[in-house]
Amino acid sequence: MKAAVFKEVGEPLAVENVADPRPEASELVMKVSFCGICGTDLHATREGLTTACCDQILGHEYVGEIVEVGKEASGSWEVGDRICAMPFIACGHCLPCAAGRFFECTDKKVSGVDDAGGFAEFVTTGSRETILLPDDLALESAALVEPLAVGIHAVRIADVKAGSRVLVIGAGPIGLTVALWCRFFGAREVVVSEVATTRAELAKQMGATAVIHPDLGKGAEGLLQQFADVAGGPPDVIFECVGAPGLLQQCIEMAPHRGKIIPVGVCEQPDAILPFFGLVKELQIQFAIAYTRDDFETCVAMLAERRIDIAPMITDIVSLDELPHAFEALRTPSTQCKVLMRM
Ligand SMILES: [Zn+2]
Ligand SMILES: [Zn+2]
Repeated sequence: MKAAVFKEVGEPLAVENVADPRPEASELVMKVSFCGICGTDLHATREGLTTACCDQILGHEYVGEIVEVGKEASGSWEVGDRICAMPFIACGHCLPCAAGRFFECTDKKVSGVDDAGGFAEFVTTGSRETILLPDDLALESAALVEPLAVGIHAVRIADVKAGSRVLVIGAGPIGLTVALWCRFFGAREVVVSEVATTRAELAKQMGATAVIHPDLGKGAEGLLQQFADVAGGPPDVIFECVGAPGLLQQCIEMAPHRGKIIPVGVCEQPDAILPFFGLVKELQIQFAIAYTRDDFETCVAMLAERRIDIAPMITDIVSLDELPHAFEALRTPSTQCKVLMRM
C-alpha cells in the first residue's frame, strides 16, 4: 500500500510503498478515507519526548470503512461498515480497558508511536476501540471526532457549569473544540485569547462569545483586565491550550480564589511556576489528555444529530502525495486550522 512515512527529524514525510497491515485476530482493517494532521504528529517529527521511530507511519485522526474483520474481533463488525477509531489497540482485559479508558492501559499499541498510523491506504484498528458511524454522518466531519474528543474530555474534567465564565488560551484545533464544548455545556462567557487574527475569527464561528488579543507586554494582569472587560468578572475556569512555557504561571496569576486551571496544551519543556500564588488562592490545576470511549461516542452522536458544527475548522483537504508539503507548511503559523488528507 501507499503511505506517508516519517524518515527522520528534519526530513519531510516520504510517500512510499510499504507492506499492507497484518492484523491480529482481534483487530479490524480500515480502508482510510480521511486522516487529519494533528499537532501531535508535528511533535512526533521533532526532537523531544514524543519523537516517533524512524520509518513510522504517523496519523491518528482516521476514518474510513472496514475491509477486513479479524476472526476474534469483539462486536458484530462487517466489511463495509463506516467507522472511526481511537488510535490505540489496548489489552482489553485490565480495569481501565473495561471502563473504556484505553489510554490508561499499560499494555497498548498507539498509532503513529509504536504502531502504524493513518497516513496510508489502510490502518488496523482495535475492535473495542472502533466506533460505528451513523449512515448520514459524512466521513469528512467524522475525521474531526478525535480533536473533538480531546476537547470534550477536558471540558468534562473541568466540570464547566451552566453560567461559568471560561477563558480558553489559544485557538488552535484543541482550543477551538474546547470553546465549542464550553458553549455546548452552557458556559455564560467563552472568551478565547489568541494572537493570530484568522484563528480569532474562527474561534467566534466555533462558539466563542468574545475573542481577546493578548498584549504580550502586559502579561497576566493585562490579559485578566481584557477578560474582565468582556466577561464582567474573572474566569472560573482557564483552559491552557497552547503548551508554551510561561503560560501556566500566567494562568496561576490570572485565576481567582478556588479557580480551576486545565492544562491541555502539550508542553515538553521545563516550565517554572511559583506555587505560592496557587497556594494562597487554593487553585485547582487538573491536567487533561486524550479521551475515553464515551467521549468518542458522544462526539459521534452530537455530530450526527447536527447539534455541533465543525465545518469551519476544516480549512484544507490534500491528497496523500500532497501531504508531505502540507505537513511541513503547518510548522509555521498560517491561516490553516485542520488539514485533512483524503485517500
Ligand atoms: Zn490528534
Ligand atoms: Zn488494558
